[in-house]
Amino acid sequence: MSTIIYPSPIFGPVHSRRLGISLGINLLPADGKVCSFDCIYCECGFNKDHRPTLPQPTREEVAQKLEAQLQKMQAEGQLPDVLTFAGNGEPTCHPRFAEIIDDTIRLRDKYCPKAKVCVLSNSTFIHRPQVHDALMRVDDNILKLDTIDPLYINKVDRPNGAYDVNAIIERMKAFNGHIIIQTMFMRGETEGSREGEKESVDNTTEEYVGPWLEVVKSIKPQQVMVYTIDRETPALGLEKATREQLDAIRDRVIAAGIPCTASY
Ligand code: SF4
Repeated sequence: MSTIIYPSPIFGPVHSRRLGISLGINLLPADGKVCSFDCIYCECGFNKDHRPTLPQPTREEVAQKLEAQLQKMQAEGQLPDVLTFAGNGEPTCHPRFAEIIDDTIRLRDKYCPKAKVCVLSNSTFIHRPQVHDALMRVDDNILKLDTIDPLYINKVDRPNGAYDVNAIIERMKAFNGHIIIQTMFMRGETEGSREGEKESVDNTTEEYVGPWLEVVKSIKPQQVMVYTIDRETPALGLEKATREQLDAIRDRVIAAGIPCTASY
């Protein structure tokens, strides 16, 4: 099973199917994964299989390495379209996340003022005022909401510790539209709670899509991104949602007056 552990704190530039030419900023350790979720589809693998030994990069290290990379790209005449916070886990868990966002905006303004600053987050720390305020300052605040069904969340996203999806939804509304919702749709099955048992992970059915869409409408995001599995997953038995299913979901979101893209 192939997993991806990204260099830290800077990786790429890479071509992202959702974001264009992107320079990655990874606030997690370089030799493992740290996340408040443990998604069964995570390209970095399961948390338990990739425990890091190195620390998270410091605020100063991130700024220094980012500036050096932007200077290099400037000299080569190829500046990024987007600076993307992603990598080996959840970026907003970094204790200096808010200050790192400010450093990044400053460096973006200096070297590539047309580039967007984008954060991909699983939403678990958006209750922290500093995280909320920092996300309000970035261009693309992309937050995960795979479903609103707590059982499905526990089976697929697998939060570490307490997770209240209704509280997350309220926090999403507090962005007043400065939010892009990202939702993974997939089919197939995974190991159940009892040995030998299989459970469906299909969230493309009306049972999941209908209630999710109602909540999305209530959050009033600037955009929705629906996507599906793109790489090998740590859990076996997962299947991609079909192009037709994703298109149908996308069209329902658009019909509700919210821009939406589908990635296959
Ligand atoms: S939230 Fe993202 S990084 Fe964390 S386990 Fe899920 S897919 Fe992986």
